[in-house]
Amino acid sequence: MRISMVSEHASPLAALGGVDAGGQNVHVAALSVALAARGHTVQVYTRRDDPGLPDRVQVQDGLEVVHVTAGPALPLPKDDLLPYMGQLADGVLADWGTEPPDVVHSHFWMSGLASLEAARNAGDEGVPVVHTFHALGTVKKRHQGAEDTSPPERAWLEPSVGRRADRVLATCSDEVFELKAMGVPTNRISIAPCGVDLSLFSSTGPAEPRGRRHRIAAVGRLVPRKGVDLAIRALALLRDEGLEDVELLIVGGSSDSAGLESDPEARRLLALARSLGVADRVLLRGQVPREQMPAVLRSADAVVCAPWYEPFGIVPLEAMACAVPVVASAVGGLIDTVVHGKTGLHVPPRDPAALAAALSELLQNPRYARRLGAAGKQRASARYSWDRVALDTEKAYQLALGAAARPGRLQPLGGKAL
Ligand code: UDP
Repeated sequence: MRISMVSEHASPLAALGGVDAGGQNVHVAALSVALAARGHTVQVYTRRDDPGLPDRVQVQDGLEVVHVTAGPALPLPKDDLLPYMGQLADGVLADWGTEPPDVVHSHFWMSGLASLEAARNAGDEGVPVVHTFHALGTVKKRHQGAEDTSPPERAWLEPSVGRRADRVLATCSDEVFELKAMGVPTNRISIAPCGVDLSLFSSTGPAEPRGRRHRIAAVGRLVPRKGVDLAIRALALLRDEGLEDVELLIVGGSSDSAGLESDPEARRLLALARSLGVADRVLLRGQVPREQMPAVLRSADAVVCAPWYEPFGIVPLEAMACAVPVVASAVGGLIDTVVHGKTGLHVPPRDPAALAAALSELLQNPRYARRLGAAGKQRASARYSWDRVALDTEKAYQLALGAAARPGRLQPLGGKAL
């Protein structure tokens, strides 16, 4: 198949760890690589956020990234990109010329809008659109309330993407419920989870050197909803219980450790650690390049993922692939990936005492922790290879192509929902 991926803010070529660069970038990059390896031709369209970027980057055989000018060629918060989606659609359509692809796979609601617009104007018959939301505005609003910076239009445009796409890919079972509640017809939803790069993340490489203390690691974009503050609170509770020889390594942020003073979330976390008297055992590492991530994960006794909510969460899979046990809030994708008592421990969200209790259980019982880690590795490789995800995704493309053969498929932007 000729496949166009559209990912407006999340370029597969971006550095990870900043506010808007995380799981979606990894997903688009790894899925595209896996689809290209299966013999498809993949073009990834993403917004030009630097004037120096080349128009096209050939990543490997069958996989190319195309930078489309849509709005100023500057890094902009993803929530500010809606006004430029028409331009993105025009750029994608222009690049297709007279040869539109077999299928468009859009990522995040705004790319969905641009893709539906481009797809309905392509050729005589349009192009089927498969959509992955990665995150849902309804869920974000529920948890973030007034802090949610999404444009107000998301409330009605996002569900319209769900209803108009030929097929919607949920990444976990929890998302299926949310999609149905949004009005997406059940018979147009498939599940294709995120995956983990098993050739990079494995238990057999070196671990980053560390001191004698136990080490807990928290990895991800430094945004409040990731709940890293809860891990700091848990660290203080562990100390109060007498477990003092524990450090918390925090990975992620807008830059490497040297530039973290200007990262507001890093400053907030550090202030909290100081106020709780654990700043000497909280290590803020900043962004870590992908290739170094496995060694960082392997250096930890446990990885903590304590988000308030989580559309999917690739970090737990990466830890599992490295045979490191995971303590995770029982939310979103983490309900599917982490099996309580088998590959890690679930805790309720926003509950530092539960987090501390789970971490204490693992740190005081290393054999149990190793058993969970080994089972996690097995689960990650059996279920979450990108090759397997690509296969699930391919099936969804086939279903969309089948549906596309039926007349009256696509509705114009702003048109009546199906
Ligand atoms: N990541 C990274 N370097 C960092 C911070 C994060 O490579 O400094 C990667 C991390 O290993 C994972 C991704 O960014 O692959 C985060 O994905 P996840 O799904 O856990 O969270 P999201 O960013 O989607 O909320």
